[in-house]
Amino acid sequence: MPKAIPEKVTMEKLVSLCKRRGFVFQSSEIYGGLGSCWDYGPLGVELKNNVKAAWWQANVRERDDMVGLDSAILMHPQIWKSSGHVDTFTDPLVDCKSCKQRFRADHLKGSTCPECGGELTEARMFNLMFKTFMGPVEDAAAQVYLRPETAQGIFVNFQNVLTSTRKKPPFGIAQIGKAFRNEITPGNFTFRTREFEQMEIEYFVKPGADGERFEHWVKERFNWYIRLGIKPENLRLRPHEKAELAHYARGCTDIEYLFPIGWSELEGIANRGDFDLTQHAKHSGQNLSYFEEQTKESYIPYVIEPSAGADRATLAFLADAYAEELDEKGDLRVVLHFHPKLAPIKVAVLPLSRKDTLMPLAHDRIYAELRQDFMVQYDDAQSIGKRYRRQDEIGTPFCVTIDFQSLEDNKVTIRDRDSQKQIRVPMSELKKCLGAKVAGEAFDVLPAGGQYCLGFDG
Ligand code: ATP
Repeated sequence: MPKAIPEKVTMEKLVSLCKRRGFVFQSSEIYGGLGSCWDYGPLGVELKNNVKAAWWQANVRERDDMVGLDSAILMHPQIWKSSGHVDTFTDPLVDCKSCKQRFRADHLKGSTCPECGGELTEARMFNLMFKTFMGPVEDAAAQVYLRPETAQGIFVNFQNVLTSTRKKPPFGIAQIGKAFRNEITPGNFTFRTREFEQMEIEYFVKPGADGERFEHWVKERFNWYIRLGIKPENLRLRPHEKAELAHYARGCTDIEYLFPIGWSELEGIANRGDFDLTQHAKHSGQNLSYFEEQTKESYIPYVIEPSAGADRATLAFLADAYAEELDEKGDLRVVLHFHPKLAPIKVAVLPLSRKDTLMPLAHDRIYAELRQDFMVQYDDAQSIGKRYRRQDEIGTPFCVTIDFQSLEDNKVTIRDRDSQKQIRVPMSELKKCLGAKVAGEAFDVLPAGGQYCLGFDG
């Protein structure tokens, strides 16, 4: 077995790997970059898409009580007045009088500048919403906001979803989409940016049932990260103190991850009570209550909101997967131990030699067939050892090697990224076998001898 070098990954190592292998690039790099904006490269977009797909699968497709939504980023500006964002979506901003650096007052540990020890200005409240204009005239009447959260798009569609789907509480609406916040101190790579993606659920329940549903969602969301491979020791729950609750919240628990910068929020689960629907009903003049047939009673549902960041989750999966190990020969290998469901490339097809005799089988048949079902990379450059290292470093869970023997016995070799063990399988079973492995079913099961994966006879 490969030996792990017990060392925590640093943010510098992650940033460098992400750039080198095409996960994440600095935005606008050829123009010197744009602060706190990042672009996802060829592997990064696959990884983030897989994170979002896994979230959608668990929270929409596999649940009877959930439906999806994709609302517009630009919305009626009154929405942000009703929701409280225009008045209260603010952070306290302080400037250092000596070095001119800016800080969020609520993030400071003392009363002086953490950089130079200088005197700080009084805190000023700074609204985090980005403003823009609809149409050609840039006046106050045309001003709109880039949404700072996806949640409000769900609340204002509550009645539309109720009437079009025949859902009734308890049920929830899920949405994945961009959000924008003019953060005072963005940074730490993709951890805190001004443009980011959220994965949010608004779950509507009858008042009184909120406590139990809140607990349900905290557990559910915590376990989702574990099921996708996050090490349990790197994840913890942090219930909020009363004083730090947002203006709308009746309760909140953060799921925190041990990022390279220390324990920080990965996702927040809040009990928003009936605040949002009540506000929108009041300001829009629409009835946003639910009429319960059985009891002939109308009520405004309470809302439980599990709110996660797609970029932050992707960063957590990257950090957790990263390992530096010594292989059997004592050579260093960098590996991303992604869960196969999240890995950007599921299978690498590697002909042992570039000779023409292997091409029809390796490229035209196996690669062509596998790519119909999986994200596959074909690589025939350099030694097989170097190719394995390249795949390890981008987290490809399985490499399929085709050698000259394959031409005779119709078998190929599957190499497992984590154990580095190799097994030979008949080509006729390759797709099925990889399918089970990618789903995580036979991931750790590579028995010696006859059986080569769960459910199949050798
Ligand atoms: P903070 O207090 O750190 O500013 P928050 O509590 O305001 O964050 P929420 O409003 O609860 O954050 O947002 C829900 C989730 O969206 C967060 O848990 C995080 O994963 C993600 N998120 C929020 N702000 C950012 C950001 N600036 N960049 C990246 N992801 C973010």
